[in-house]
Amino acid sequence: CCFNSYTQGRLQELKKLQSQLQLTNQELTRLVQASQDSISHLAHELKTPLTSIIGYTELFLRQHRQKQPEIKDSYTNLESIERVLKSGRLLLRLINDTLEISRYDAGKMKLQPTQIDVGGLINSVLEMIEPLARAKELSLVVNCDRAPEKAIVDPLRLQQILTNLLSNAIRYTESGSIELECWVADEKQWAISVTDSGIGISPDAQAKIFDPYFRAVKGLKLQNSDGTGLGLAIVSRLVELMGGEIKVLSELGKGSTFTVILPLEAIAW
Ligand code: ADP
Repeated sequence: CCFNSYTQGRLQELKKLQSQLQLTNQELTRLVQASQDSISHLAHELKTPLTSIIGYTELFLRQHRQKQPEIKDSYTNLESIERVLKSGRLLLRLINDTLEISRYDAGKMKLQPTQIDVGGLINSVLEMIEPLARAKELSLVVNCDRAPEKAIVDPLRLQQILTNLLSNAIRYTESGSIELECWVADEKQWAISVTDSGIGISPDAQAKIFDPYFRAVKGLKLQNSDGTGLGLAIVSRLVELMGGEIKVLSELGKGSTFTVILPLEAIAW
């Protein structure tokens, strides 16, 4: 009798272990697949700027070797160098942003909780962003009367989040306004939103915009030639690290609102 119940018990234990192992195997396969996907994604993204750097450098060299010092050629040369520089910068941004994401995914991204003067931080972000809005003749409206005076955040990271959301708002808007709003949501949380009157995001794309390398409007060279598709992926990870939440509300052709909700006090970051 005892032997039977012992083997039954062991068998059940083994079955449980086996099913746990299977789960772990599935999880492992998923992780390996995800990391392979992101490597091939990255390689694909690096190809575009690199091809452009090589192509324009070859053009430049060809013209120099042929020694054609005509004005038209020197303009072409200058343009080639400008494009090489632009692609080089994009490449650097792609690499830095990818490193940032992998630091987060490896659990190595650390934040520095600091008590900040909310108004001061907002003003410093606006100072950086205003010239971009002015260059596109977009009005920048700030409505932060209901903001908390103080909050505990990582100031550099919050600046990064806001700069990213505001520069996206400017990049994807051709006319109208960009509005920044801040308010105390309840006794534990405060919120910041960035609203634009831009091209908007389709419901399908809304589900993917926080995925690394996703870009909804690849065809629109104008807005997207210097995008990496990593900005929102980093923003959402930073918000999560701060114990907050990010939401998007958008309508194609009308505009978008990104809202970040953050705890007022430091949580265990
Ligand atoms: P990117 O460098 O391409 O802007 P992001 O991660 O910041 O990368 O954004 C991902 C994609 O989400 C963008 O390519 C764009 O299609 C869409 N997007 C982000 N912000 C906005 C916005 N304010 N209005 C419309 N589309 C947006």
